[in-house]
Amino acid sequence: MAIKENIEEILNSIPKSVTLVAVSKTKPEKDLQQAYDGGQRVFGENKIQEMTQKWENLPKDIQWHMIGHVQTNKVKYMAEYVSLVHGVDSLKLLKEINKQAKKNSRIIDCLLQVHIAEEDTKFGLDETELNDLLNSETFGKLQNIKVVGLMGMATFTEDKNQIRREFKHLKTQFNRSKETLPNIDTLSMGMSGDYQIAIEEGSTMIRIGSSIFGERN
Ligand SMILES: *Cc1c(COP(=O)(O)O)cnc(C)c1O
Repeated sequence: MAIKENIEEILNSIPKSVTLVAVSKTKPEKDLQQAYDGGQRVFGENKIQEMTQKWENLPKDIQWHMIGHVQTNKVKYMAEYVSLVHGVDSLKLLKEINKQAKKNSRIIDCLLQVHIAEEDTKFGLDETELNDLLNSETFGKLQNIKVVGLMGMATFTEDKNQIRREFKHLKTQFNRSKETLPNIDTLSMGMSGDYQIAIEEGSTMIRIGSSIFGERN
């Protein structure tokens, strides 16, 4: 498997300003090490336990992104080292991340996950929930988290127009959120199958797994 070559090919096809998150969930550490040896430093995992084990065993200058759904009671295991939490979808979770960040004397960067897909199985805030969260008094008081942007996942479909519509919608919400949070700069959207469309629609961070490491079981 040509992990380094896959990364190179993707990097050559995207603007320099877009961050590539190598999604290494379920993959063995030797695969991550190969990506690392090729220069990759940002990795995405969707299970806290698995991510923590990899963090313990792999080089310490890796930036670990939690891209999956986060259970409140597991935040404490990653609070020491996680670099960005993509899937924040409630104030309750944000408060727990804040609490654990404080214990570790850190400020943890977070993205709010917005529900843009047709399927209701995908997590995320709807437009009203997003606005309520951003404007809540509690949110304003959290000192140990920093919301740096939004994240979303498009519907799993062949319909490219639908995917584009959903990404456009997320970009609109991103721009609106800037009215409350003028400094947000990260829009995490796009996976192996749809990252080109996502970049055309304003993505600044893509999360690529299978196109780098091969299909997962
Ligand atoms: C698994 C996963 C990805 C990567 O998916 P690929 O199609 O393998 O690129 C991206 N984002 C999230 C949230 C994921 O869970």
